Amino acid sequence: MIVERIQQLKKEIPATVQLIAVSKTKPNSDIQIAYDGGQRVFGENKVQELVDKYEALPKDIEWHLIGHLQTNKVKYIAPFVHLIHAVDSLKLLQEINKQAKKNDRIIPCLLQFFIASEETKFGFSIEEAQEMLASPEFFELKNVNIVGVMGMASFVDDPSQVEKEFNNLHNYFQLLKSSVFKFNKDFKEISMGMSGDYQIAIEQGSTMVRLGSTIFGSR
Ligand SMILES: *Cc1c(COP(=O)(O)O)cnc(C)c1O
Repeated sequence: MIVERIQQLKKEIPATVQLIAVSKTKPNSDIQIAYDGGQRVFGENKVQELVDKYEALPKDIEWHLIGHLQTNKVKYIAPFVHLIHAVDSLKLLQEINKQAKKNDRIIPCLLQFFIASEETKFGFSIEEAQEMLASPEFFELKNVNIVGVMGMASFVDDPSQVEKEFNNLHNYFQLLKSSVFKFNKDFKEISMGMSGDYQIAIEQGSTMVRLGSTIFGSR
């Protein structure tokens, strides 16, 4: 079923939108099935689980860390992580930069924005992000590459609210793209959309959808 669901989704979503298979809490055997069906991009939200799966599974998988990242755990994923989706502070970005340097690499990152009405979500406001991006501390970071933005909409039934929140994220992206990141051709990603709201996210300009339960079943 996993492979069929991925194939169905690939038909449904535009080719310009990347499908990230969110495999958190799911066994390696499920990931291997998806891998054998051709899927190479997977997302996890916990560092330990991500490291365990990285070690056990094929090395050409692109692993995305999609969840909140604590500074003291960056070192465990720095050697191999493909994209960090939820950068929400300068302190975290500085640590990613430090660990990236140690591993002689540049780590691609997305800035997480707070777009939901709920209070529990992490992320920058646009003002906070602009302040950080204008700071001399940010300018010194040579081993991180900010390639876009990420956000999570509220868990509500009202599609117009979700649409508005995703639209806000798209606007933040455009604002940064036309200013701070004018000369960074890699700044092109908008990571938004989960199983419950990915259609709306795609309508609002998502370039990466993070889908778990739609592919692997409920957790
Ligand atoms: C779990 C998770 C997802 C996927 O959620 P589903 O509703 O199962 O598609 C996407 N993004 C983040 C940040 C997550 O933690």
